[in-house]
Amino acid sequence: MSSLKFDGLHVDVPGFAFPFLFFLFALPLFGAEPNSGGLPQGRLLHSHARPDQAVVKHLSLDLVVDFESKKLTGSATLKFERKDDAKELRLDSHGLEIRKVSDQSGAELAFKVGEKNQLLGEGLTVTLGEATTAVRVEYATTDAAEAVQWLTPKQTSGGKQPFLFTQSQAILARTWVPCQDTPAVRITYDAKIKVPSRLLAVMSATNPQSRNESGVYEFEMKQPIPAYLLALAVGDLKFKSLGDRSGVYAEPDVLPKATWEFADTERMIEAAEKLYGPYRWERYDLVVLPPSFPFGGMENPRLTFATPTILAGDRSLVALVAHELAHSWSGNLVTNATWNDFWLNEGFTVYFEQRIMEAIYGRNYSEMLAKLNLASLREEMEDLSPRDTWLKLDLRDRNPDDGMTGVAYDKGYFFLRRLEEVFGREAWDAFLKSYFDRFSFKSMTTEGFIAHLKKELLDKDSEKSASVNLDAWVFGPGVPESCPTVDSDELLKVTGHAKAFLEGTSLSVVDAKDWSTHHWLHFLRSFEKPLPVTRMKQLDGQFGLSKQGNSEILHDWLLLSVRSQYEPAYPALERFLTEQGRRKFLEPLYRALIKTESGRELARKIYRKARPTYHPISQATVDGLLEWKASE
Ligand SMILES: [Zn+2]
Repeated sequence: MSSLKFDGLHVDVPGFAFPFLFFLFALPLFGAEPNSGGLPQGRLLHSHARPDQAVVKHLSLDLVVDFESKKLTGSATLKFERKDDAKELRLDSHGLEIRKVSDQSGAELAFKVGEKNQLLGEGLTVTLGEATTAVRVEYATTDAAEAVQWLTPKQTSGGKQPFLFTQSQAILARTWVPCQDTPAVRITYDAKIKVPSRLLAVMSATNPQSRNESGVYEFEMKQPIPAYLLALAVGDLKFKSLGDRSGVYAEPDVLPKATWEFADTERMIEAAEKLYGPYRWERYDLVVLPPSFPFGGMENPRLTFATPTILAGDRSLVALVAHELAHSWSGNLVTNATWNDFWLNEGFTVYFEQRIMEAIYGRNYSEMLAKLNLASLREEMEDLSPRDTWLKLDLRDRNPDDGMTGVAYDKGYFFLRRLEEVFGREAWDAFLKSYFDRFSFKSMTTEGFIAHLKKELLDKDSEKSASVNLDAWVFGPGVPESCPTVDSDELLKVTGHAKAFLEGTSLSVVDAKDWSTHHWLHFLRSFEKPLPVTRMKQLDGQFGLSKQGNSEILHDWLLLSVRSQYEPAYPALERFLTEQGRRKFLEPLYRALIKTESGRELARKIYRKARPTYHPISQATVDGLLEWKASE
């Protein structure tokens, strides 16, 4: 998922108490040689599956997408390997309506749906016959399918057709597919999806590039993936090629803009391959989702899901593409074995993203991003419990989404950067390249990574090794003292401009025409206190900030405007809050608005209009902030 602070998927589970604590004391045990193909033993964290007894290897989905009833209906056939004495296949399912289970010959099998568990789902246990090698589960999704978002035409850019997309990470795949929903298990899959013939379906698999009359699409994913990377999007989508192995899907009115914005994609793939070895998923495509997509991006293999708010018109926000692309190695190729090891996905990905950005746009550019990230990491840590600031998380009896903070992303990044600093780029790059190669298509625990790191790097030089301070990073709170320093002359200059402006210097001396998004964010964040309206007017007059087309800059400007009660920016604020629904942008703005009486009134007025266009996850966040009642 994209690295931006509020883009993590947080699903609140109000008043939830755990009836089955024993599930959560699960210890995934891996062999001494970490994850060399062995399966975790015993009960797992966040999953009902018992892959040590019977492990699913391949999934065949056959589903009909019905926009009227808002249901996916059909079957999932699961081929598995089992221990000789295994009597059951245990699957994760959450809110699915299970209709029938049969074996490979069509003979019915007994099954049991477990007791309700609001976080982990009920689970599905199938009793196996002696010769059972596959089970076919006939089922339908229900309103409880949190992974599946059904958008009305109003919530799309074109406004005429409905849209559907899924978001399976972290443990929501089980709400639309019965599966072993743990990142420790990988499956290949194929799918047949039937949709209304005016719409196109795409998945994290081989994809069609045009619509067909029948509305039936077939998909194949030959590389084994964890269940959280199962993904489907259905809508009025068109495709445009970006290069030999990349392209973009979007609604027709968005497609030209998206094609232009993502022009560097092929270069990014080449830069990534040069760093850490071949891209192993054949194609890399992107699908731009409607403006109500509440997140930045999701690294579904072969097909990144992305927000339209990165279409800035100047290619200034494509770091998100570098991030999701980097996941094709870190996360999708070598995968965190449990959600406690989430930093293995995200910290590595931020590091890799930074290296791609450096290769294409230069070190000055990537250092600005590092500096901004370190500042927001330190700020975010102030609100976290110390234990939640370790890289190795402890998410027992908690929602794995609680671990989706800047810690996994940015503390993870700075730890890897520390390793680079101590061992030198050449040795570090060689290590990383061989790590991705050796553990490709496998899952990895933090402990497994450390054992490998020690063997291949740390144990070869005890002096250097000691200066890394590994334990402080992985098993300790906060940002360790050995954190690399980030110097950015560019941002230092910007700080100087902001300071001079605060002291009364005229803005005419500031030459901002070549400023990047990073310059602007740093500049606007330099104003910690509200500014007098006259000064806001000067800023707006000089730089046209209220007319800004870059969503990140506009967001920071509008935030400063609300804090400074600068009303001339309010029409832009209203437009911004009604034209997109990315929660990362909505949450801080509404939060700032409700601090004053008049702001609260304005927030409610805007929200009344905007709410129907938001995604349910964004609605839930803003409902909470504004104490919005369903009857309003
Ligand atoms: Zn990510």
